[in-house]
Amino acid sequence: MHNGATNFIDGQWLTSVSGDTFPSVDPGNHERVLGTYARSGSAEVKLAVEAASRAYRSWRATPAPARGALISRMGEILAANKEDLAHQISREMGKVLIEARGDVQEAIDMARYIGAFGRMPDGYTVPSERQDVACFARRVPVGVVAMITPWNFPVAIPAWKMFPALVTGNTVVMKPSEESPGVAVAFVQMLTEAGIPRGVVNLLTGFGREVGKELIESPHVSVVSFTGSTATGTQIMERCATLGKRVSCEMGGKNGIIVLEDADLELAVKGAIWSAFGTTGQRCTAASRLIVHKAVIDSFTNRLLTAVQALAVGQAGNDAVDIGPVINEGQVHRIHNYVQRAIDAGAKLLCGGARPVGDAYSSGSFYEPTVLAGVTPDMEIAQVEVFGPVTVIMKADSFEGAIDIANSTNYGLSLSVYTRSSSLAFRAIELLDAGLTYINLPTSGAEIQLPFGGTRKTGNGHREAGLHAADYCTEWKASYINYSETSDLVRAQIDV
Ligand code: NAD
Repeated sequence: MHNGATNFIDGQWLTSVSGDTFPSVDPGNHERVLGTYARSGSAEVKLAVEAASRAYRSWRATPAPARGALISRMGEILAANKEDLAHQISREMGKVLIEARGDVQEAIDMARYIGAFGRMPDGYTVPSERQDVACFARRVPVGVVAMITPWNFPVAIPAWKMFPALVTGNTVVMKPSEESPGVAVAFVQMLTEAGIPRGVVNLLTGFGREVGKELIESPHVSVVSFTGSTATGTQIMERCATLGKRVSCEMGGKNGIIVLEDADLELAVKGAIWSAFGTTGQRCTAASRLIVHKAVIDSFTNRLLTAVQALAVGQAGNDAVDIGPVINEGQVHRIHNYVQRAIDAGAKLLCGGARPVGDAYSSGSFYEPTVLAGVTPDMEIAQVEVFGPVTVIMKADSFEGAIDIANSTNYGLSLSVYTRSSSLAFRAIELLDAGLTYINLPTSGAEIQLPFGGTRKTGNGHREAGLHAADYCTEWKASYINYSETSDLVRAQIDV
């Protein structure tokens, strides 16, 4: 797209009104500019929201099975383009290829799942207390959905938000992260191939504090669906409260793995490696805390370090690489500062803690996989979301102590326990305060047919995916129909 014409408004690819653009660069090689994108603001928001409002009338009147069929077609187009799209993801945000394929697969799964919603029940009937009165409740769309998304799952997250919104009859204005605009453009191009009608999906590229902020302000946006950091999400929730606007927020995490005395340590180490260093630690479900029972802490730590030392850091497109770059230079500095402050506070650096050295790394934003030991719950590193290839080992004296440590942050997204005891497994599921709990599995690995989201500062009570995926963008409408042939007024609660 073609000299910054990357806004998709009312079925047309447009530049920003001002002509301003911004580049997208490969985080593994800053000299490689991948494209130039429209830098949008309030003028584009107005056009896109107007287009989405106009399209809403006809889209909500389109039969739900037809809306579902379009989403199913989108799933097949994603499947046909999976490899190309995975390479584009990998280049633009630095996820290794095998994971980039997973990102696309999640969207394909979601399309297949949500496509079928078009023919599923959309409400229920109940008996009336009045004679000859029929009652039913139906789920109805709310209007224009503003989607503000992060860069770390640039295909899966838009799919999680968009497909449920579309199948239930809403229209969409999407604002992807400024770090991954190219993937968003490719996604919307595929929607046009699937036959999305004009105005039903609109795309605005640009920065959060410019176009993102303006989008929330638009009086014709009915619901805001945000995924990103807790800091940004909190600002958005505050603003939406003032504007009286519905808002769904999926935010940060400080996830943990508990390794109990009876755990299969080999399995636990594999789970810890995937959870802590997958996507270079830049998943909302990344395990940045390993809470290990004192009886197995030495043996777990030794095995973990052996596994970490075998990880290859490098360019994300190289199949031999396990850990790609982090998203940008600012993030490398942020990660490094957290690690330094943890060491100053008494943590012991077991490996990593620096940028890798060598020509292969000189043009990109790389950071070594890092493990810190001797971390206690009161330390900053045990509380903040680092969002990089950094994990810490924390010692637990008992099952109860491990649960307390796991629950001792402000976040509640994903917690996992490794144990061979079914009794402890079920007790842990009961006691862990998180939206996702796992037994003998990594903290990452959610499947789209279950609800996804977190408690406390991770979310505001909504869930994406699963049976309730469309809750955030629908309302319930109750209807009463008097089909009696008499002229008698029968009042509920009074005449019966
Ligand atoms: P971010 O908060 O910096 O940005 C997210 C989106 O918000 C981007 O599109 C950005 O442009 C936009 N934005 C920024 N400031 C804004 C403002 N003032 N008004 C409106 N929009 C604004 O987050 P990020 O760095 O892109 O993503 C990483 C974060 O996302 C991590 O905290 C991670 O845990 C979280 N995340 C959460 C989930 C989840 O489901 N819970 C999933 C993935 C990522």
